[in-house]
Amino acid sequence: MKRIIFYMIAFTLFIFAIPIIFVNPFKTEETASVEVEEPEIQTQEPIVEANYNYREYNTIKLLHTATGEIEEVNLEEYLYGVVSAEMPANFHEEALKAQVVVARTYTMYKIIHSGGKHGEAHICDSSLCCQAWISKENRMNRWDANEAEANWNKIVNCVNSTAGKIITYNGEPINAFFHANSGGTTEMPINVWGGSGYPYLQVVQTAGEEGYSQYNSEVELTKQEVLEKIKEKYSEIEIDFADENAIQIVEYTDSGRVRTAKFGNINLSGVEVRSIFGLRSANFTIEQTETTIKFTVKGYGHGVGMSQTGADSLAKQGKTWEEIIKHFYVGVEIKEY
Ligand SMILES: [Zn+2]
Repeated sequence: MKRIIFYMIAFTLFIFAIPIIFVNPFKTEETASVEVEEPEIQTQEPIVEANYNYREYNTIKLLHTATGEIEEVNLEEYLYGVVSAEMPANFHEEALKAQVVVARTYTMYKIIHSGGKHGEAHICDSSLCCQAWISKENRMNRWDANEAEANWNKIVNCVNSTAGKIITYNGEPINAFFHANSGGTTEMPINVWGGSGYPYLQVVQTAGEEGYSQYNSEVELTKQEVLEKIKEKYSEIEIDFADENAIQIVEYTDSGRVRTAKFGNINLSGVEVRSIFGLRSANFTIEQTETTIKFTVKGYGHGVGMSQTGADSLAKQGKTWEEIIKHFYVGVEIKEY
């Protein structure tokens, strides 16, 4: 009899235990369907889990320039930090997706061609050297608190929806240069860095860039400042400011940027002038006033490859991310990497 009572109690406990064993009380049907249907509103943790399988196959070694630390990070997660550092989150989604694919391609190109520039690391987090990167924590803190979550999710969604896509030419990842604002016309790399160039980096025109704050800028310096700044690099410099032709533009590149400018007894390349006087681009005019030299500058950046504001402008005109990429990089293909 005791035995029968024991079995009855055990059976009752077992019946009650079944739902607890098979149903996770913390995971309701509702949250599960949200995760499946709207991955863009997931929080950070599920994203890490969802990308877990990529981790062992798909990582890069990122050099943090501030600390010298090398971190191995998932490529797609690395791109969240690149795109959120490189392009304003309020840009059109198609522009952000174009930026994602450009950044992914640039990264692949760096992995293949880095040549040990950063030792063991493939790429660094500096926009002055490779491409900018920011941690999620720092990025969220810099955004307005009301918009931070939505901004981050927008970027994550743009990365995830173009997962694995890269830009190729002849089957190889391209050297996907990009910059802020082309001033309406992009530049050939040979006019910026020399070398032999790339067939997919040509001069292309983009409408609508004048609507962005990066389009127009000015730098005004006293004549003495101009002389001193050039002297830091060329001690032989002499400028007779009484001669109104002492400072003038001598030659332009095909894109309309300054190829050569004359400052007194020396000629400087447009790229050098940009660097010496901290101009936003090599697309400038020079004006002499009684006491100053004024540079009026169009565009922002070296001008090679994709213009970010141009991408946003094209997106707002109805172009897709693929059309934007094919506008800025001539004759390329989009491939699954
Ligand atoms: Zn670098």
